[in-house]
Amino acid sequence: MSAALELAGLRTTLDTPRGELRGVDGVDLAIARGECFALVGESGCGKSMTALSVLRLLPEAGRITGGSVRLGELDLLALPEAAMRTVRGRRVAMIFQEPSTALNPVLTVGRQVAEVIERHTSLRGAAVRARVLELLGAVGIPEPERRMHEYAFQLSGGLRQRAMIAGALAVDPEVLIADEPTTALDVTIQAQILELLAKLQRERGMALLLITHDLGIVAKMADRVAVMYAGEIVEVAPRAAFFRAPQHPYSQKLFAALPGAAQRAGPLAQIPGQVPPLTQAFAGCRFAERCELAFERCRREPPQPIALESGHEVRCHLRERERAAPRAAPAGEPAARAAAAARPLLEVRDLKVHFPIRRGVLRRTVGHVKAVDGVSLAVAEGRTLALVGESGSGKTTVGKAILQLLRPTAGSVRYAGEELTGLARAAMKRHRAAMQIVFQDPYASLNPRMRVADILAEGMRSLGVGATEAERARRIGALLEQVGLPADAQARYPHEFSGGQRQRVAIARALAVEPRLIVCDEPTSALDVSVQAQILNLLRALQERLGLAYLFITHNLAVVEYLAHEVAVMRGGQIVEQGPAGQVLGAPRHEYTRALLAAVPKVD
Ligand code: SF4
Repeated sequence: MSAALELAGLRTTLDTPRGELRGVDGVDLAIARGECFALVGESGCGKSMTALSVLRLLPEAGRITGGSVRLGELDLLALPEAAMRTVRGRRVAMIFQEPSTALNPVLTVGRQVAEVIERHTSLRGAAVRARVLELLGAVGIPEPERRMHEYAFQLSGGLRQRAMIAGALAVDPEVLIADEPTTALDVTIQAQILELLAKLQRERGMALLLITHDLGIVAKMADRVAVMYAGEIVEVAPRAAFFRAPQHPYSQKLFAALPGAAQRAGPLAQIPGQVPPLTQAFAGCRFAERCELAFERCRREPPQPIALESGHEVRCHLRERERAAPRAAPAGEPAARAAAAARPLLEVRDLKVHFPIRRGVLRRTVGHVKAVDGVSLAVAEGRTLALVGESGSGKTTVGKAILQLLRPTAGSVRYAGEELTGLARAAMKRHRAAMQIVFQDPYASLNPRMRVADILAEGMRSLGVGATEAERARRIGALLEQVGLPADAQARYPHEFSGGQRQRVAIARALAVEPRLIVCDEPTSALDVSVQAQILNLLRALQERLGLAYLFITHNLAVVEYLAHEVAVMRGGQIVEQGPAGQVLGAPRHEYTRALLAAVPKVD
């Protein structure tokens, strides 16, 4: 399903006397057509500011400072205000908690709905009147002929809310944002309004962003749920998964705090403290001060979103720790991980790396070698994208440009929703741990003068993984076991190992800093087939256990068949074909892919 509305890395600040308040701090979400997406959380978490940012209706002190808001093909943040006015009401409409503030007191409700129609369509006169009547009837206002001549103050709260919905839906918007639409209403009216919203949404295939603090409403309405806390989304899940097993400690607390018959015997759980002021800078998890499960790392390092299972994501170090521990992987998890491909962890768009050709005494640039020329690809959590092609096709350059080891000439590289191109060194350091590389020749990539323990600890230390030396030492022991090396390997130097073992050391080094994406650049092509099989098995097992994403650069199509979920074929700096592995390898469309496949020697 394509997204009707997509927010990526959205940041909004408000100038306050206490300083800059970061109300929305890197929010990513995508809502499909016909989907109801609920945004829940306590007041002051940034839900409404997110909605107002979409419509660019911020108060004067507010500013959108980063990210993007896409409505289908439109980049809303790049639109001139005049064009934005057409989008508001026409393509994205909003209804608020308190209809009396949103309705104009000096115009009849019929006139207000008519104005929306006249502003956004070519209908006039009797046609407008007919449409107003139709809309007022559709939202369940009785006697619409009479009510259309009434003013807001003459209507009950429920009818006012219905009139506002009629105005919002007057021109069939693609997206409706409903900000606590029923909070001011009685429960029976609330039920009617929710019923109405659900019906209209179903009939019109609208995307509905429903902002609420009420989990009961979420259970009734939402297809998916996002929990917002202190300006960030801390959990996203399909409704069933969220209600079955919320994963973030904050979400769990929201449930535990719900009154119900089961809680009758004892006091309800409380969430101690308050949402922290968003004027402060956060060094670690924003929920740490209120979280009973917080541990040392939580105060030191902000958690990043972790994909758990299909469409379920959570921002919590605990889940990462569980995932890193092999024993925590429940049976059947590999399949779930494989299905967790909905959202790309890495997204590359139109990447270009051009090297200047310089000639003459003055080294003038006389042209460019287009090593990579417009490459787009995506890799999801727990998936392997194989980048295949002959030497010189640009595969390795793509890998290096993704990791920002080479500066791209143009294009976009997004990791977990954040744009990496142009990031300053310090900002990039945050992502260094998450994105690792394993090279073809482990011997060349491991410092021959360092023992294995020091090689593994070096990366952890420089990227701040493990609080103490003792913790790092414990982790090194676990890592060696994970990659199938004996514990005494720690004290040995690289030259004391075989080629396959060295590659295991290189893999352990990459894993040491808890990456989510590994660029594997021909990691087995220097190895014997038997050793290659061990390494491939190891890579696959680690992916299933840890949910790693691999960009697997290779020229070996047999390896691709074994390991890859998706394949992209490169030639002359461009991708000539890409798709699911079965399709590209089984029924290639491009003649170059066919030629590559035909060239593979077959055993039989
Ligand atoms: Fe609690 Fe730590 Fe998870 Fe934050 S990262 S929610 S503090 S356990």
